Amino acid sequence: MNALHNINTPFYLYDLDLFDRTLDAVTNEANKYGYIVHYALKANNQKPLVERIISRGLGADCVSGDEVAAALQHGCSPDMVVFAGVGKTDSEIMLALDNEIYCLNCESVEELAVISELAEKAGNVAHVALRVNPDVDAETHRNITTGRDENKFGIHLMHLQEALDFCRNSEYLNFMGLHFHIGSQIISSKPFALLCERVNHIWNEFRIEEYGATMLNLGGGLGIDYNNPEENPIPDFNLFFNLFATNLNLPKHISVHFELGRSIVGQAAKLITKVLFVKKGINKQFVITDAGMTELLRPALYQAVHKISNLSSQGVTGKYDVVGPACESSDVFATELLLPETKRGDLLAIHSCGAYAQSMSLHYNLREKAPAYYIHNGILYSEDSPLELLQPIIV
Ligand SMILES: *Cc1c(COP(=O)(O)O)cnc(C)c1O
Repeated sequence: MNALHNINTPFYLYDLDLFDRTLDAVTNEANKYGYIVHYALKANNQKPLVERIISRGLGADCVSGDEVAAALQHGCSPDMVVFAGVGKTDSEIMLALDNEIYCLNCESVEELAVISELAEKAGNVAHVALRVNPDVDAETHRNITTGRDENKFGIHLMHLQEALDFCRNSEYLNFMGLHFHIGSQIISSKPFALLCERVNHIWNEFRIEEYGATMLNLGGGLGIDYNNPEENPIPDFNLFFNLFATNLNLPKHISVHFELGRSIVGQAAKLITKVLFVKKGINKQFVITDAGMTELLRPALYQAVHKISNLSSQGVTGKYDVVGPACESSDVFATELLLPETKRGDLLAIHSCGAYAQSMSLHYNLREKAPAYYIHNGILYSEDSPLELLQPIIV
């Protein structure tokens, strides 16, 4: 890890070898059942990652027009792009229509009316799926739960009939099927099993196929192991897809789609940061790092806990609160964390920063965005130099 000391901190360090193995796992397991995976671009949009994902034949799950444009720019075929979001603007909808993407996932009857109108103006037919809110508890943090009655996402079952009728009556809408996404960082099988049960029920109850459905999209949400990232670097995609294959009860011709984000990229990066000060508090010792909530927002946003290791020393000797430099009391990475005796200048690695870390980074406090570095076959590459032109540094 000596080479890391020569790089200005903080920075994201991506392990492309692990990432390739993760892509092997997710594609192999999904292919067993003919499932189609759309990568949720918002988890991480770094070019080397997205290009690898697209080249493996995965599609893209987008939540903004700019993400739709990015997916297409990265070479994703339009018929592999899906577009969700409660607040799509007219120009975002037009972009999706003009590029004839696979499907817009609609979140309200009000949105269907706007899409139908815009499609008519454009002389086009919009492919739409209805995002249904199944009222399933994802058993995850409340800020990343999306499928309960009180959440803003999706169409409530009370409005589903109206939405189906609207699609049937508009010649500018082509109804594709149903879409679900119940939340993120789901680490138990139970919410997914419950989701299958709800989907089977809704599919029959509303006679979804009589409306011409050809697809079902089950969203993402599969969690990663933030506590033991090194022991458990690749999520159990086998268990995940098998659960759906076992519990879903749909006709064979319905194509089944997933939108995985975190589980694909989550373990691919660490955030490397330098200790600026070790400061004595009254009953505490603070390790103050040069990375903060601007580089990793998850702890401040939803009390996420990431494993932290000291790359410069070993052995358990002290208890520290690890905090960032931002002028916010929530800029805290860990409290009462056991670390080797830590001193100014030590390098710390914050694990599992592949998902919702760099993509959520902020300019707050006018801080510059931290760069990304990549390790591939034991060689370290910088972000903006083309791989073949860069003088490689051996790690
Ligand atoms: C964010 C998001 C996903 C991805 O969720 P992960 O938990 O990262 O797998 C999938 N679908 C939709 C609609 C999303 O908003």
